[in-house]
Amino acid sequence: MVINSSKKVLIVGGGASGTLTAIALIRSGIAPANITIAEPRELLGEGLAYQTRDELHRLNVPSGRLSAVEELPDDFAEWSKAPSYSFMERRTYSTYLRGHLPDEVQHVREFVTHIAPTIDQGVVATFASGDEENFDGIVLAMGLGKARTPEFLDGVPESHLVIKDVWDGIALPQSQRLLCFGTGLTFIDVALSHLARDPHNTVVAISGSGNLPERHERSQISPFTPSLSDVDTLEKLRSYLEQAGESWRQAVDGLRPIMEGMWRTFTVEEREEFLRTDGSNWFRRRHRIAPEVADLVDAEIAAGRIHVVGGKVLEVHLGENEVALTLAGDETFTGDYLALCIGRDYELSDPLTLNLLAEGKTSRGPLGMGLHVDVSTGLLMKPDGNSHQNIYALGPLRSGEAFESTAIPEIRKQASLIAARLSAPKNMG
Ligand SMILES: Cc1cc2nc3c(=O)[nH]c(=O)nc-3n(C[C@H](O)[C@H](O)[C@H](O)COP(=O)(O)OP(=O)(O)OC[C@H]3O[C@@H](n4cnc5c(N)ncnc54)[C@H](O)[C@@H]3O)c2cc1C
Repeated sequence: MVINSSKKVLIVGGGASGTLTAIALIRSGIAPANITIAEPRELLGEGLAYQTRDELHRLNVPSGRLSAVEELPDDFAEWSKAPSYSFMERRTYSTYLRGHLPDEVQHVREFVTHIAPTIDQGVVATFASGDEENFDGIVLAMGLGKARTPEFLDGVPESHLVIKDVWDGIALPQSQRLLCFGTGLTFIDVALSHLARDPHNTVVAISGSGNLPERHERSQISPFTPSLSDVDTLEKLRSYLEQAGESWRQAVDGLRPIMEGMWRTFTVEEREEFLRTDGSNWFRRRHRIAPEVADLVDAEIAAGRIHVVGGKVLEVHLGENEVALTLAGDETFTGDYLALCIGRDYELSDPLTLNLLAEGKTSRGPLGMGLHVDVSTGLLMKPDGNSHQNIYALGPLRSGEAFESTAIPEIRKQASLIAARLSAPKNMG
């Protein structure tokens, strides 16, 4: 059913969010040839998460929840010929997403640097080359910001021994003893890649808590079904999670459908407090690792090849060929390289975001996370509280407003709502 095939849409960013948006737009009647994706990377659908080539890196969401198409929930499981409760290799996911993109979709391998509304309710985009093009609508899907750096590196001179961005697409240098700062999902990927290279390789991982991500159960669980009024303050959320006891997985997963509503009812102070005091526990329970990956990590810990330490890093010493971290309590750990595994910033820093902010066209989201987006419509907001027409944003860009806005099930839903609005015959912007 073609609703309106003549609208021209630009998607800025061709990671999972941008690609899921293109797929949703096509399904809602926009002609593929009228869709342009601006993405400097060679392959669409990869972005940060799905660029890996390592077979040890698994998806952390079961196949049955990763369909690219809202109305066809089993699509990815059927494509991957895997049971719906299985955790596939992550590298397969971008291949799957690209399989849904017809060749007519235009991929411009450039950054978008500026966008500006036109008088006829369209938007003009400027590419890094200086080329300009008019569109009827724009969808922002630029993902997260730069890799985070810990305070203990403030003022410390740059060194090739410190790998600041493990997701920059460059393989880890060959080494035997790797030090990692951070013990979350990024650490799990880095450790498995490093250990698989050589049986003599080892990893020491340090973080404040020393806690690893939790694991998924071996079989599917049934989430609880809380209502928004059960968790609409931080105090209620804490008591809901505490009461769940051993059934915390069911409690955490049960929040998924109401998470955005819950976050929006929290005050900014409650959001800030949650991230500061409950955040680390929340993330390791909410984003769990596949049971097979957890088994592998446990085996490496038992074999002494992974050593996990909790503590505050007080000092870093950069030698000629090694790095040493000294913790409160004076214990020191040494490695050939230090890999920072504390993830990416929620504060975006790509050229378009910086220009939008500098030109006063939008503002950052609450707590500096993402951009200011009206999550009920997906429209980008102006600093004066009005929304832009026909400029939408999704994925991690909504983190300040929606919090959990990074996993595929949430992003897919956002993409399909944006597509419905952009393809509607009447301008709903
Ligand atoms: C390591 C990792 C593993 C994950 N595993 C899972 C999982 O198993 N299951 C799950 O549901 N979720 C997972 N996630 C979360 C989630 O899927 C990702 O956060 C999601 O891929 C976000 O995609 P994105 O397209 O919004 O951002 P990104 O992947 O960051 O892509 C953004 C793209 O935009 C481009 N870009 C940026 N600025 C511009 C610009 N100005 N002009 C043009 N292009 C621009 C960048 O080059 C980039 O390719 C994982 C995340 C990570 C980091």
